[in-house]
Amino acid sequence: PSPSTYSTGRKDRDNTCQSSPGLTVDPLKLKALSIGLFKELKILLIKVDSAGRQTFNISEVEGKTVPLSEININNTAAEVIRACKGAKVNGKFKESYLLPTLSVKPNNAMKTCIPRDKLNPPTPSIYLESKRDAFSPVLLQFCTDPKNAVTVIRGLAGSLRLNLGLFSTKSLVEANAEHAVEVRTQVQQPADENWNLNGSTQTWLCESSRSHTTIAKYAQYQASSFQESLQEEKESEDEEEENEEQTKTPDPSASDQKAGKIIKFGTNIDLSDPKRWKPQLQELLKLPAFMRVESGNNMLSLVGHTILGMNSVQLYMKVPGSRTPGHQENNNFCSVNINIGPGDCEWFAVHEHYWKDINRFCEKHRVDYLTGSWWPVLEDLYSANIPVYRFIQRPGDLVWINAGTVHWVQAVGWCNNIAWNVGPINAYQYQLALERFEWNEVKKVKSIVPMIHVTWNVARTIKITDQDTFKMIKHCLMQSMKHIQILRNQLVAAGKKICYQSRVKDEPAYYCNECDVEVFDMLFVTSENSSKKTYVVHCEDCARAKSQSLSGVVVLEQYRIEELMRTYDTFSLVSLTS
Ligand SMILES: [Zn+2]
Repeated sequence: PSPSTYSTGRKDRDNTCQSSPGLTVDPLKLKALSIGLFKELKILLIKVDSAGRQTFNISEVEGKTVPLSEININNTAAEVIRACKGAKVNGKFKESYLLPTLSVKPNNAMKTCIPRDKLNPPTPSIYLESKRDAFSPVLLQFCTDPKNAVTVIRGLAGSLRLNLGLFSTKSLVEANAEHAVEVRTQVQQPADENWNLNGSTQTWLCESSRSHTTIAKYAQYQASSFQESLQEEKESEDEEEENEEQTKTPDPSASDQKAGKIIKFGTNIDLSDPKRWKPQLQELLKLPAFMRVESGNNMLSLVGHTILGMNSVQLYMKVPGSRTPGHQENNNFCSVNINIGPGDCEWFAVHEHYWKDINRFCEKHRVDYLTGSWWPVLEDLYSANIPVYRFIQRPGDLVWINAGTVHWVQAVGWCNNIAWNVGPINAYQYQLALERFEWNEVKKVKSIVPMIHVTWNVARTIKITDQDTFKMIKHCLMQSMKHIQILRNQLVAAGKKICYQSRVKDEPAYYCNECDVEVFDMLFVTSENSSKKTYVVHCEDCARAKSQSLSGVVVLEQYRIEELMRTYDTFSLVSLTS
């Protein structure tokens, strides 16, 4: 991503003092230093004013500084900034956005050893008595409860009178026959097995090759696969010389037995375009708010732009055996999946608590947990004392995958599914999203959700009533402010110019061109091709890797520090009674 426009903006206030005070006493420098200090005091007074206070705080005028190590979310933004200015940070300042003491994970309840017969826990399945029950806050509470890894809402489409026919293969072809479909070519096998290429042993690696087609062409494949299966069944019945009546649909489990058949899975079909998919997307507005693609309490609705497949709908077209390998959602967000039918899907799910164990299995089998394709060998999980939810999703059933749940899915019959992500703003979801944000950085994997950008947007727009959620978000804002201010100090001390360039409407969040880390507020921009006027954003590390002194790098600042301070100070816990 690169900004399309660029202007030098207003010269930054701090740049008027470009040299850092030296150790030797030089009368000229001393004079410069005193001017600098005088200016700093003036800035402090302005900040007090902008925070909306009526009176001067004498200690603030005197510049009483809380040490950076003692700063916490009870401090004002002015105190945080002053602590940063007073701190001596050598080299890069790097601290977690999370505070371990604020964790809300239900870990302790799960440390006990689980007896073998309890490793197949029943999947929470909800049967709604009436349409009204779907909109009850109890349903939201249940689905987002950290203890519930997965919830199946049986027959939700029926209860809400959703017209799933709009997503049938026939309707999809009629709507957009030439629409792009990504194809995964896979080997059909029983859902609880995963054999290596020569079929000698079970393994975790589950590779598939990728190609592309259209909805019309995949529809043809899906239909002929169904017809073939009918035919095969008929022939096998003839061979067995059975005189039973012909069943209406082929038995998918019969074709399951024949391992080795090559199948095609139509995946990641983008239904984001509201013009092309108007009736389909409109139908989904009948869902309860917390399950909708867009809603007020959804972090993904605060990103400010489309993230394909996350805050937009994706469609999957399947034949029996089509596999979605094991994964957690991007940044551990929740996901919603509706089976359109006519066939069923089989699901496997493991609570977030065990993701590191599964990660270890992936390492052992030399497949990358975050970016690779793997299908857990069930016996491995049971022997590691990991409980696995296993259930069938029938047409009209909605599967709610809670934050961080590891899951893998296989089509039992011929069916289509629609799915998207949601990020309900609660402490558990927020914590897991930030944890994965930081883990992704360690593993050099892009965080599809720009969590720092989203966190500031949450603080600006959402009233938080839950104390745990509030503290976690406030802490992240504080850490973000610390990172920015210390970086600013270092740049200014080194005489580097910082150019303010306000964000424009719909401007995306930025990522480093080299390492894919989110770059928030302070962008290190280079001009890669001066004639084409393309600008490339880097993080500080990658910019310095190219040039330690940042020569040829323009530092853009997208928010005034005062603006961030105001957001931080204004963000407070809202009591439900007020
Ligand atoms: Zn980078």
